[in-house]
Amino acid sequence: MAEQTDLLILGGGTGGYVAAIRAAQKGLDVTIVEKHKLGGTCLHKGCIPTKALLRSAEVFDTIKDAATFGIDDVTNMTVNFGKIQERKQSIIDQLHTGVQGLCKKNKIRVLEGEGAILGPSIFSPVSGAVAVTFTDKSKEEEIIVPKNVIIATGSTPRSLPNLPLDEKNILSSDGMLELEELPKSIAIVGGGVIGVEWASLLNSLGVEVTIIEFLDRLLINESATISRELKKSLEKRGIKVLVKSKVEKATINKKDITVEIEGQDALNVEKVMVAIGRTPNVDGFGLQNTSVKYDQKGIEVNEFYQTTESHIYAIGDCIDTLQLAHVAMKEGELAVSHILEETVEPLNYVNVPRGVYTNPEVASVGYVKENVPADKKVKVGTFNFAGNGKALVYGGDGGVVEVIRDVDTDDLLGVSIIGPHATDLISEASTAIYLDASPIEIGEAIHPHPTLSEAIQEAALDTYGKAIHK
Ligand code: FAD
Repeated sequence: MAEQTDLLILGGGTGGYVAAIRAAQKGLDVTIVEKHKLGGTCLHKGCIPTKALLRSAEVFDTIKDAATFGIDDVTNMTVNFGKIQERKQSIIDQLHTGVQGLCKKNKIRVLEGEGAILGPSIFSPVSGAVAVTFTDKSKEEEIIVPKNVIIATGSTPRSLPNLPLDEKNILSSDGMLELEELPKSIAIVGGGVIGVEWASLLNSLGVEVTIIEFLDRLLINESATISRELKKSLEKRGIKVLVKSKVEKATINKKDITVEIEGQDALNVEKVMVAIGRTPNVDGFGLQNTSVKYDQKGIEVNEFYQTTESHIYAIGDCIDTLQLAHVAMKEGELAVSHILEETVEPLNYVNVPRGVYTNPEVASVGYVKENVPADKKVKVGTFNFAGNGKALVYGGDGGVVEVIRDVDTDDLLGVSIIGPHATDLISEASTAIYLDASPIEIGEAIHPHPTLSEAIQEAALDTYGKAIHK
């Protein structure tokens, strides 16, 4: 006997569980099928664990720098990586319990097992019924027949044919999180967000780090100035950054790994991390039984996240949009609104805030200088954190804010930041863009003193040549 439900969500990661809660709040009967753990990549293998590790690295950096703050004799410091990992896990566990509690509170049925979408069958004349194979093997397979489906199956680390992942010597970000001991040295292939975050944290904890990036700069989607500042800052900390460099192969020796790079000397390192992006999960759960279109870039959807079968939606990392947790959450909420026939304003992906949790942090929203449409006349205002009192008090004077103003419309087109707490600061800019505020409104709004946010105010004023402290 098949069970009926209003909405079945395949995958209980960030996008999936948020969509489920929103749908349940709006009165739908919701079922989640999750084969691993509620919370998905972000909670168990992504955002939260990496930020927990980065926080330990930041504490260590601060203590190393204690003498600068007048705290002498901080000696005999050691990194206890086991304890760092334990702290990380306890944060994950606490949040995981929280997500489970939220699903329970919202009366969401959570089925622990693997779901596979069926084509038209005796259970339903249209595709979209889902067969669930339970993790608990003593339970019999169940068929759920939903009115609507949201696919939120996420993504998996991408590998390179010449660098096959074994998660022991050559690791993805998943394998890195399982390390029991820190390596002495590592080559990180890929200078995108995940690569630079790991580089920053491992360097802080004493690992010798080399980043190998194929393109001509780190964080290719950020402003070139910010990329340059980040590279300078990572190099100052002792990280070796090789750009325009192509890894040819890695040979695992008895005691180390030889990494061969085209036209350059080979490197010998203890571990290699491959951080070259993530592939959408589109295979292995029955899409071929439906007429949903998909390829290796992801599941094809319209602006309301409907696939080519209009009652089947797809959101998050498994579609070809920005692979970010807050994007997956928003897409989930919008898909639910569309299912409920509410008015939906499609998401403007340019205005999604982006954060990189390196030391120093990087964040941006809207356009960066390099991708402003050619027909727009812009003025870029800047402000260095060296002129910001709170940044000096905090102990970091590096970094800059860039604000882009449309000269004809006075619109705020984008803000990029490298510096302390950039990932928190960017929310002001994100809200300002959402509310259609102009840079002069940011400049005229009172910002408390001394705060790092004054750097955004000053950069906004600088787009009119009116910064006070510049
Ligand atoms: P996921 O969270 O991956 O969830 C998919 C879920 O589907 C999984 O739980 C999986 O088990 C389940 N599933 C798949 N197939 C099936 C099936 N057949 N049956 C049942 N269940 C299934 N984003 C940020 O915004 N900020 C960050 O700081 C950040 N840091 C990151 C750091 C790292 C190292 C990584 C890897 C990612 C990071 N991300 C970050 C990205 C973020 O984790 C993803 O964008 C987000 O998790 C996507 O959510 P999702 O719901 O689409 O997929």
